Amino acid sequence: MKLTINGKEFEAPGALSVTALLAHQQVKMPDMVTVELNGEILERQAFESTVVKDGDRVEFLYFMGGGSMNLTESQIERYSRHILLPEVGGKGQEKLLAGKVLLVGAGGLGCPAGLYLAAAGVGTLGIMDADVVDLSNLQRQIAHATPDIGKPKVDSAAAKFKAINPDVTLRTYRERLTAANALGILRDYDFVIDGTDNFASKFLVADACHFAGKPYSHAGILKFDGQMMTVLPGQTACYRCVFTAPPPAGAVPSCSQAGVLGVLAGVMGTLQATEAIKFLLEQGDLLTNHLLTYQALQASFRKIPLKRNPKCPVCGEAPTLTELVDEEPPTCACKPGERCPV
Ligand SMILES: [Zn+2]
Repeated sequence: MKLTINGKEFEAPGALSVTALLAHQQVKMPDMVTVELNGEILERQAFESTVVKDGDRVEFLYFMGGGSMNLTESQIERYSRHILLPEVGGKGQEKLLAGKVLLVGAGGLGCPAGLYLAAAGVGTLGIMDADVVDLSNLQRQIAHATPDIGKPKVDSAAAKFKAINPDVTLRTYRERLTAANALGILRDYDFVIDGTDNFASKFLVADACHFAGKPYSHAGILKFDGQMMTVLPGQTACYRCVFTAPPPAGAVPSCSQAGVLGVLAGVMGTLQATEAIKFLLEQGDLLTNHLLTYQALQASFRKIPLKRNPKCPVCGEAPTLTELVDEEPPTCACKPGERCPV
């Protein structure tokens, strides 16, 4: 019995239902295939009961929310749970694969964010971190493992992200973000995740994203509480609209002084990754003009409305910060000569 499948002649072994034919042809993801039989689309419910006949023309069509996809079979399988979502589909997955996200910090926030972004198929991930993995990091920085102690965090994180998904292009920057390097690096990215752990860096990330016009997700964690917000520079309330300047040195303890629940970093970093994915997909409502706070001990979230601040030093009516400058070094309560844990 001769069939024409996807334009090619095929000698079928005998009478086959469409379901059996899909299996026989080793069609991957048969649930996502639409079948056209002799020029007519075949209802999925009819796959089992329809038996192909000699001379039939069969086309297997990947039918995913319209339009063709440039995904390989293995990508279709890898991202199938995304592609099944109408809000993502093949087109959305292509947007993710074309997306470029910079993780500033490969620590408690950057690790979970990066793992999920890599798994999601965000095509380019930049990882910026000057530090090496320390034993005290492993309680929450889940991209690093015990054998990585002493290795640069960027290398350790890049290896894990690549292992999850070889589709992802990784760029590593083993340096701190500074006023000098920020704009040159940010230029190449669509979205920035602030995974830094000190106020000077958080203000620098916020200011650099403002001047580079790059959307970013801010998050901060301390003890059992986290907070986050997403900023579209020039359009929505920014970090400096809310927190106009860093607190005085020592006024707020750091995680290395006050402690932090490890899993809290995972919750907040994962929420940041969600924002990046929504931004790349152009789906849903971003966490803009709101500060989301999470109190782990109470299992409570609060979403506090924010407005742009006319007195904001970067995006207000009369900005006082008109170019990128380094904030003072990380604020901590160390005395001169002490080893600073921040
Ligand atoms: Zn502002």
